[in-house]
Amino acid sequence: MAPDPSLRPVSRRSPAARLRARAAACVDWLGEALYPGQCGLCLAPGPAICADCRADLAPLEHPCPTCALPLPVAGVCPACIRRAPVLDALHAGWAYAWPLDQLILAYKHGANARAERILAALAEQVAGRLVGENGDLPDLVLPVPLHGRRLRERGFNQSDYLARRVAGVLDVPLDTRGLRRIRATESQQALGRKARRRNVHGAFAWDGSSLAGQHVLVVDDVATTGATLAALAEVLRREGAARVEGLVLARA
Ligand SMILES: [Zn+2]
Ligand SMILES: [Zn+2]
Repeated sequence: MAPDPSLRPVSRRSPAARLRARAAACVDWLGEALYPGQCGLCLAPGPAICADCRADLAPLEHPCPTCALPLPVAGVCPACIRRAPVLDALHAGWAYAWPLDQLILAYKHGANARAERILAALAEQVAGRLVGENGDLPDLVLPVPLHGRRLRERGFNQSDYLARRVAGVLDVPLDTRGLRRIRATESQQALGRKARRRNVHGAFAWDGSSLAGQHVLVVDDVATTGATLAALAEVLRREGAARVEGLVLARA
């Protein structure tokens, strides 16, 4: 599987960069229309990502059930034993490693249509695992919201799109409006663990109908320290949610 140069992220959004990203996305969409039915990574005929390329994604070995940290043996990680974990479960598809990291960046910052198709297929795969585990399915699926300003800059919320796919596979309702980001936050990328927690503290609010007794599943592309999901879980529990789980494509 060779690296795909078209999956390079488009960095910081100057108007010219945005224009280029849109032009690239148009070319991509055109390509999709002309050559459908190919693996977006190796171009083998078939689905958006073929079985071989799926098998090449970096697995999470023995992920901790509540924070998805990979462990040498199956069990709960020391941090989750020390402090009650904020999520009841975190379902993560793979490790945040090549090529999944590049796909996520290409989609998030470049609206790359090929990356979008692949990530949709992968989100469906993670949701399918939940169905296969025969546990209780959530009552409601929620995407991690973007702040209005970021949404206007980017034009779409990648978590929204993934959450839609997850809700479809689970066949449970999706609510894209209830959770709101009420404060613009710095990008978490350059921050350490403590700074990340401070950065998202008080950044979210719930505007939807009552969550009393509900089992909710929050969907995002990546979890790093889990600070964002933790801040969301706090809000959702305050609104009465009985169980809060997370689902991400990748655990960094
Ligand atoms: Zn492939
Ligand atoms: Zn843990």
